[in-house]
Amino acid sequence: MSGRPNFTINKITTPDIGYVEAVEAYARHGFHGITPWLDDVSEIGAMKSARIAHDAGLEITGFCNCGLFIQSGRDGSAAALERARRAIDVAAEIGSPSIVTVVGGLGEGDRDLASATNYAFDCLAETLEYAKSTPVTLALEPLHPLYTPDWSTVNTLRMANDWCERLGQGIGLTVDTYHVWWDHNAFVEIDRAGRAGRIVSFHISDWMVPTVDTLWDRGLPGEGVIDLSKFTRRVEAAGYRGPIEIEVFSNRHRARPTDQLLEDLSSRTVALSSSL
Ligand code: ZN
Repeated sequence: MSGRPNFTINKITTPDIGYVEAVEAYARHGFHGITPWLDDVSEIGAMKSARIAHDAGLEITGFCNCGLFIQSGRDGSAAALERARRAIDVAAEIGSPSIVTVVGGLGEGDRDLASATNYAFDCLAETLEYAKSTPVTLALEPLHPLYTPDWSTVNTLRMANDWCERLGQGIGLTVDTYHVWWDHNAFVEIDRAGRAGRIVSFHISDWMVPTVDTLWDRGLPGEGVIDLSKFTRRVEAAGYRGPIEIEVFSNRHRARPTDQLLEDLSSRTVALSSSL
């Protein structure tokens, strides 16, 4: 590849520090941007959060998240759709080009996977109509199958590609190595998404063996069993030119001093870049 890729950090990697502290720390360690969550910026406000990032030299590279359309959700589809629209508005206001979109899993007591999936698709289609009136692209992120019950009935890049094809303009997908590394069709589907110009974002972290917590035990790049060089090369060969986003939900790493963690991450980005 030509030149060193840009690396950005998903704020969930340092969940215990505030937004301003995170921006300062990421900038200090030479990262290119930040992908915040709604909770990170709700107190400060979107416009001011954007200004804080830009003043520190960081780009807002993404925004988390919208979706979680659960058929038997307590407050019904109107509230879920309204929440999604609000998140898209904040993403637009903060200047994020896209918003991570996670469709939702089974509701409490629900055992009908097909029906839950159809419901999520219909809600997503409706949300897309709204997103099209904004500059924000929906970045549909398939999640690892172990998240099917609570987070997402879309588990493979193939399914995400199929949905994007059905939905048309305004939606693309997120390739997150943690969620798709196990899938033997992943590279074929990355190529397919690339041909359609559909890869909106690229998230990296590693899969630990054993994994001791299904949500909070991701590894830093190079700590686990995922061939991140190969994934990065394939995503870039498929035409993706955006930043590489480090997204590490980890109880082990969140407990470390922020500067130590970011220094570790920084040297891992150098190692990954030189392996490409
Ligand atoms: Zn992700």
